Amino acid sequence: MGFFEQPIDCRSRSAMIDFLAKHSRYDTGNSLNRKTSYANCVKIHHLGLTHDQEQTAYALLSSDDNIWDQLDQHIDDFTRRHHGAYTIGANGRSNGYLVLYSSNYRETGYKSRCWTCGQLNYRRVAKMPTDPVESVIAQILLASGLGWPDDVYIQQFAIRDLPGTDESKLGIIRRFKQILQDCTAHNRCGRCGAEGESGRINIDHPHRTLQTSISSLDAEHDFQDWSLSDLRARVDLVRDFDGTCDRIRQDFIGMAASCRVVEQTIMVPKTVRRTVCAQHPA
Ligand SMILES: [Zn+2]
Repeated sequence: MGFFEQPIDCRSRSAMIDFLAKHSRYDTGNSLNRKTSYANCVKIHHLGLTHDQEQTAYALLSSDDNIWDQLDQHIDDFTRRHHGAYTIGANGRSNGYLVLYSSNYRETGYKSRCWTCGQLNYRRVAKMPTDPVESVIAQILLASGLGWPDDVYIQQFAIRDLPGTDESKLGIIRRFKQILQDCTAHNRCGRCGAEGESGRINIDHPHRTLQTSISSLDAEHDFQDWSLSDLRARVDLVRDFDGTCDRIRQDFIGMAASCRVVEQTIMVPKTVRRTVCAQHPA
């Protein structure tokens, strides 16, 4: 049993409905939207910490390091377990609540990313063919923007001088017009200008982002029509949410136990507060 996660008898229909209907909830957007979902309060005074842990926890929150970056891994894992259909977000004043959100992955269409600055680009970097005839044709296609009619390419001196029949060259031209669609010959980044080894590299899998919806989740409590298997699936989801909140709380306590916040003057000049973490024993 965790701090948030509770055992539920999933053979009992009424126990499951009771759990879902009584689970704490919070707004998914601002309170004016009147949309709510399953939530857990993660305000520091609500986390069951000792007095000393609480003091360090407040100092942690006021440090300039974004401690959420270190806790986000649990949320990423949760989102992946649910194939992007659900995710967890912080909401409320000073993000005092973790809320269960509906979500979905959306493909962005980006094909490459700058190695130096991370800028995304809709065009792929062309992989040039090794065959010398294909390579010449591919370079001319890219340099011309692939837009000329096939017979105009055939008439180019550089292509006319290549070995092979017009028929075979036409075949290559048509094939590479397809292959090189959405491609650039260079890998220069449009934003920072990096190229070569530090320029754009192709993204292998379709690039996607997670879209989060603020629509309510089970706000009507009308579970009576739900089948047992639907109820179990929902209980599993909400328990996984609670368990993930437990892991985030546990890591936060771990940080509060092993970290101290020190003042450090850096050459901005501005005083920043940094989090210094002790090594955890392996
Ligand atoms: Zn760049």
